[in-house]
This record gives sequence, structure tokens and C-alpha cells, in this order.
Amino acid sequence: MSGNKKNVFLLTLLTTLLISIVLISCSPQKGKQLNVSPKGTEVNADEALNLLKDGNKRFVDGKEKNTDLTEETKSDLFEDGQYPYAVIISCSDSRVPPELLFNEGFGNIFVIRNAGNVVDQISLGSIEYGVEHLGAPLIMVLGHEKCGAVKATIDGGDFSENIGAIAKEITPAYNSAKINIKDNKLIYSNTEDENIKQSVNEIKNSEVIKHLLEENKVKVVGAKYSLETGKVIVSE
Ligand SMILES: [Zn+2]
Repeated sequence: MSGNKKNVFLLTLLTTLLISIVLISCSPQKGKQLNVSPKGTEVNADEALNLLKDGNKRFVDGKEKNTDLTEETKSDLFEDGQYPYAVIISCSDSRVPPELLFNEGFGNIFVIRNAGNVVDQISLGSIEYGVEHLGAPLIMVLGHEKCGAVKATIDGGDFSENIGAIAKEITPAYNSAKINIKDNKLIYSNTEDENIKQSVNEIKNSEVIKHLLEENKVKVVGAKYSLETGKVIVSE
């Protein structure tokens, strides 16, 4: 190889190396590309709802982003505190985990769960804490298809006192569903829908939430998860 050719070869090699180094250093690290969701204090209710809808779309499409579980993120959340953008009250059903359905990581959604997504004093207090003290602008009641708590309420049975307390909460929703029922096959599904509405109304009746609603600082929506499709349908 002549001197000139050797120089050109070395220069090309050097340039390729430099470009590779720049590209590698600029590409996002696997753990860092994720916690991109804004703080709850940085978005309004509609923006927060869009974040959930986008996350559910990724889940349905099988295009989930890597939810950031690095030590660095955990440490940031420990140092800076939590600023979730949504409070979600959902059923405890093991097939309905909100963080997975909305493809979210640590610190983004404040979740309350119980069988039947019912609103009692403890869950209402938790919801109030999430919006009033943590600053989340959105509250979602997340029900789902084939809810066992709803089915047990309708079918009846010999419940323990504590399980009976759940059925007691869902009974008014069942009664509402019965009034408008056109096809008895739909009684389970209609009661699930009424139960979501009932929880939304109970949240809206809280003095704390009422006040925040008047000031347009919070929004309450109902939503239903389809076990079949993975989609969450929001009813605003
Ligand atoms: Zn359920």
C-alpha cells in the first residue's frame, strides 16, 4: 500500500470510528428512554387522559415501551417524591393490572384497588389524597368485563360479612341495571356499567373533589377494560 493510500485508509478508519462513537453516545440508553411521562403537576386532566389512552394503545398493539425500573429512577423518585398524573380506582381482579394496561412505570399512576372497584371511605380518602396532596389532575374508575364481584352480587350466595359488604356496595348498581334491562343476558354487563357510574358519582359527591371540580382542577371519568381485546373504553 502506497503512503497516500495508507493515509486515506487510516483516515477512513478513524472517521468511521468517530461516527460510531458519536452514534453510540447519542442513542438513548435502554433504561433512560422510559420515564418520559410528565409529572401530574405539569399536565391538565385531558392531557393526563391522553397519556393513559396512548399507553393502552401501546399495550393493545404490543408496542409497550420499557417501563423504567432502573436504580436511578427509583432513586430519583425517592429523592424528589411522587407526582402521579392520574388516580385510578380499579378492581383487584388479577387480569386487570392498571400499570400494565396503561404501560406505565414507577411514579406515574396512583392506584387504589378492591374487588368491584367500589368507593368506600378508605378508597375515597386515598383518591382525595392522590389529587389534593399529590396533585394528580385526573381520576379514573376502571371497571372490567366479567367482574366476579358484580357476578357474585347478582347471583347471591352465602357470603362472609366482609364479602357481603362488597356486594352491599354493588347492589344499588344492580338495582339500576334491572330497571332498564331489555335483555336478561346483559344483566352482568349492564351492572358492571352501572357500578362504574355509581363509583364515579360517589367520587364526585366528595366535598374535597366537588371543590376541585368547581375549580376545574380535576376531572373524573369512568372506563371499562375488555379482557378480550385489552382495550380500555373511556366514558367521559
Ligand atoms: Zn372485578
